[in-house]
Amino acid sequence: MAIRIPRLKVPRAIRSKLSAAKLLGTVMKNSIQFKLRRGAFRKRYKSREFDTIIVDMDGTLFRGDANLEGLKFLYPDKNEGRKTYGEEIYDSLISKIASGEYSIERAILEGNKFLMAKKASVKSLSGVLSIMKGEIRVPLVRSLKKAKRRGMTIVLATLSSRTFGELANSYIAEKYGFGFDMVLGTELSFDSQKAITGVKSIVGTKDFDFGGIPVHSKLTAIRHGMAAGGKEFFDLKKAVLITDSYGDIDLAKMLVTILIKPENPTAAQKVSQRLRLADYIIRDDSDLQRNLESILLGPVK
Ligand SMILES: [Mg+2]
Repeated sequence: MAIRIPRLKVPRAIRSKLSAAKLLGTVMKNSIQFKLRRGAFRKRYKSREFDTIIVDMDGTLFRGDANLEGLKFLYPDKNEGRKTYGEEIYDSLISKIASGEYSIERAILEGNKFLMAKKASVKSLSGVLSIMKGEIRVPLVRSLKKAKRRGMTIVLATLSSRTFGELANSYIAEKYGFGFDMVLGTELSFDSQKAITGVKSIVGTKDFDFGGIPVHSKLTAIRHGMAAGGKEFFDLKKAVLITDSYGDIDLAKMLVTILIKPENPTAAQKVSQRLRLADYIIRDDSDLQRNLESILLGPVK
């Protein structure tokens, strides 16, 4: 199968500014909504007693992005000695989301086609994980480990592959002695050789049918997962979300949200910080673990 590498029309520096501007426009409307709803929400619930922590994967649990690393892993050749084709594919998908040409769900499907074209398998996902091991936010993992010891339910919820999330969870369990109670994400299908054959269901931005593929928002996926895990009553008032970007804005409108602010933010992360789409914005620095724990577990007595 021939793979068409999308061409870039605008130089990188200008293009990234354009994407940032477009992202800003798309998010502004959502942001006003966010603040209105949030105003009402704050008056109602002031509790800081959490029983559930929902953690985003790309950019949060990992400093990097599994989709970008996956594409770089499968398309490592460099274009005129600069970027890998994998990065070029990724950038193209992101700018199509930013310009409104692709929905997030469409980008997930198109991205997956690039993986299938290279006959990617569970083994490739393990290969991507071994590249990303060094990007795990260890202070976050340590805080989650303490929270779990206090009886909280910790959920990893991602738009990326659930199988990848499960592989990461096994690795973290082995290395740090902490495992997520639940891993939710987009379900890929595999053949008997464990090669990816398609997308079974998507964790996306809302609940709908995408050309025969069921799509659920993170919130619906969490509710289903909780019910399946025997936790019928999931109380949003007692849940906290830890994320890096406005990708989770719909969820963030409804529960206490912590935004992690990385040292070198991407355009999407910058937009999220500028619009203050969270209750808490904390820097990824040497105080990260202490700051996280003072929010999640209450101040140290
Ligand atoms: Mg993220």
